[in-house]
Amino acid sequence: MHCVHCNSDNILTDLVMLDSSSGQDFSLYKDRKPEALIFKERVRYPLKAHLCADCKHVMFFAKKEVYEEE
Ligand SMILES: [Zn+2]
Repeated sequence: MHCVHCNSDNILTDLVMLDSSSGQDFSLYKDRKPEALIFKERVRYPLKAHLCADCKHVMFFAKKEVYEEE
């Protein structure tokens, strides 16, 4: 893997992004049925990051989707 900003291959991979106040992983969410009152069928994509050790550019990726229990 190379940095998209400076093209360095000095990359720290698979860093976890945490909310320091809650200790929870940052995640993206999508409700597959947003119009539903309940059972919105939420899908969650936890985020991971790769950090360039040279220029400190951060690249975000989502991990495998998680289907939330209702
Ligand atoms: Zn870089």
